[in-house]
Amino acid sequence: MERNIKTQAVVIRSLKKDSGAKFVTLFSRDLGLIRATLYGSAGKKSASKASQFSYGEFLLYHNPVKGSYTISEENCAFIAENIKRDLSATYTASYFAEVIEIFKTDDYEQTYSLLTASLKALDTNVGSYRKVLIDFTWCLLKNNGVSADLRYCPNCDRALSRDEILHYSSSLSSPVCQDCADTDAIVLLPGARRYLIYTLQMSFEEAQTVELYSSGAGVISSFLLNWVKTISPYPIKSLQAGVI
Ligand SMILES: [Zn+2]
Repeated sequence: MERNIKTQAVVIRSLKKDSGAKFVTLFSRDLGLIRATLYGSAGKKSASKASQFSYGEFLLYHNPVKGSYTISEENCAFIAENIKRDLSATYTASYFAEVIEIFKTDDYEQTYSLLTASLKALDTNVGSYRKVLIDFTWCLLKNNGVSADLRYCPNCDRALSRDEILHYSSSLSSPVCQDCADTDAIVLLPGARRYLIYTLQMSFEEAQTVELYSSGAGVISSFLLNWVKTISPYPIKSLQAGVI
């Protein structure tokens, strides 16, 4: 493999060490997840370098013997200034970073596009974090092949009526009709279900243009996050604080 690699990437984690170096987790458009080190120069403020949730072009040095990556240069076109000033938006972006690592797919380009578009939308309007979170999560589930049609119960194959409340089966990790449900804690009201059906075939950017009232956003985000929690093999730390 070439030793110098130029790639577009998102900083999904950035941890400053006592030495001044940073341990950085990148999601690269071409290479997927990469752990890299950024060495800071003495006396130089490097707080803006490889800051979490920024994205742009990175020049990496790859040591094939050690299997390590070093960040030689970075040119971030996007820095998440507004996200970091808002608690809910910070937790939302942390959730994006966390689930990108948990639900890996081989389609790096698709994941990179969803992640960058979601961070940009969140930073542009931190007050609409729930809407961004919903559209991101719905695309994430679709990209992972786990989204359901929501018009039929996948367990008994019964068509659901337009005004029927959707329930959930923890054992099947899927939305189901009331008869097939094994929990009352996760439900989706008819209006909220219609939003997810309407945006099922849409890209993140298209779904963002569809209006959603704030009362509905709470119901949908709670439903989707519970769904994600039941299919995740690990606890999702950013959801445990109860901020989002
Ligand atoms: Zn059923």
